[in-house]
Amino acid sequence: MAELPAQHWADRAVDQLLAERGSGPFLVASGISPSGRIHVGNLREVLTADIICRVLRERGLQARLIFVADDYDSLRKVYPFLDPQRYAPYVGAPLSEIPAPEGEGTYAEYFLRPFLASLERLKVSAECIRASHLYRSGALLPQILQALHARDTIAQILARITGKEIEPDWSPFMPQCSQCKSLLSTTLLAWDPNQQTVTYRCTPCALQETVPILGHGKLTWRVDWPARWAALRVDVEPFGKDHGGKGGSYDTGKEIVAQVFGFRAPFPLVYEWIRLKGMGDMSSSKGNVVAVDEVLEVIPPDVLRYFITRPAPKVSLALDLTDQMLTLVDEVDDVTKKQRDPRAVQLSQAGGFLPIGIPFNHLVNVVQVAQGDLTRVKEILRRTGYSWTSDQALDDRCRYALRWLDRFAPDDVKFRVQPQLPHCARSLPPNIRAALTTLAAAIAQPAKTSEDFHRAFYDTAALHNLPVADLFRAFYLALIGKERGPRAGWFTEIIGPLFVAQRLREAAAP
Ligand SMILES: [Zn+2]
Repeated sequence: MAELPAQHWADRAVDQLLAERGSGPFLVASGISPSGRIHVGNLREVLTADIICRVLRERGLQARLIFVADDYDSLRKVYPFLDPQRYAPYVGAPLSEIPAPEGEGTYAEYFLRPFLASLERLKVSAECIRASHLYRSGALLPQILQALHARDTIAQILARITGKEIEPDWSPFMPQCSQCKSLLSTTLLAWDPNQQTVTYRCTPCALQETVPILGHGKLTWRVDWPARWAALRVDVEPFGKDHGGKGGSYDTGKEIVAQVFGFRAPFPLVYEWIRLKGMGDMSSSKGNVVAVDEVLEVIPPDVLRYFITRPAPKVSLALDLTDQMLTLVDEVDDVTKKQRDPRAVQLSQAGGFLPIGIPFNHLVNVVQVAQGDLTRVKEILRRTGYSWTSDQALDDRCRYALRWLDRFAPDDVKFRVQPQLPHCARSLPPNIRAALTTLAAAIAQPAKTSEDFHRAFYDTAALHNLPVADLFRAFYLALIGKERGPRAGWFTEIIGPLFVAQRLREAAAP
């Protein structure tokens, strides 16, 4: 029997989901705490959920995608990217109640805004639900009351599964101090199920008071998560490996949601981190992140989606905005006609990507020769035998190439054809100058191709008894003022052989 092609991970996950849980409708949830710039590592959470939704809908099933912004989480500490004096007083207060690092609005919205805009560009149709609204609206009030009632049961589950001792004064509910706004500096002293109030003490404020539960605090993370599953009726949720390990918050949440809230834990999808090549796992608190909106400046949305969609979530990924960029764009464009995962491409559509059939690294060189002039780009491409389907798609791709050159390209791929003979090429040794004269004459002959130009370098070097490397070096010095550059024959073709020949003659002149 012929072997079937390997199934895409999302198709397999959906098969398993349907086998275990019937045919929906499904609520697929994802969530992020907007404690800093929301980076590509965080994007894996939402995209994994979105991919599952797409597969479910393809099969004619109902799927709704939500994105819970944990804006009621507290600021854990003063992160390195924050002004220490300004933010020290806010440690412990919810992200939705402290000011933005710059401009108007709250801290949470400041970091959420660009991320939500990026989700739109990526065609992730997630409905954003703010945790602060969930708490203030009373959507979680039944679960808070259930958790307070079941305090001892929850403490036992946590102790048994995590192996950690639970403090005698531990409470699943963290009251918020009405004075300093902190969720972390309060101790719950008592609660009244009839009045639905809590009595707490805030040590730093020397404050003790009784307040309504509604709007005055939140559940601790390990209880908050299962409470949310039950309140929103979540069927599927991806989460990072930190929550998925043995004794992690999924393990404890699974028991808490069943025993305390009478609901079944969502179908899990555990994903690995995304590293930034050479900089380790991305982490907002360490500051080694590229925000999603920054990446979308240099990678088309479909290509960024493809990067995350292709490998299974449990595969760790390294984002390399230098070399990898070139191959990734070409893979989605299908320039290379190999290695492409067509199912991943299908699940990565964000609506704006048109294949142009021109390798990205070629465009990177052409836009530099054309100095960003898109009309000249087209002239060069036409002259060198390229054709493309849509001018707009080509212009778009050139703009990506230009932004990539500006932000992430390594120095050795950047060049500028110098308007005059550079200084460094003005006093070449006599034997090199003689060879350049021969080379210029060979290049100036009509109807030559890049292979002919390439061969001319070798023939000239042999004729003048020179290492060909010396001739290449002189060529690059004369044209771009650097010792290395794009492949010489091909570079000659895109710059234009007459211009190159003239420049080589200038360098050859005594
Ligand atoms: Zn306080």
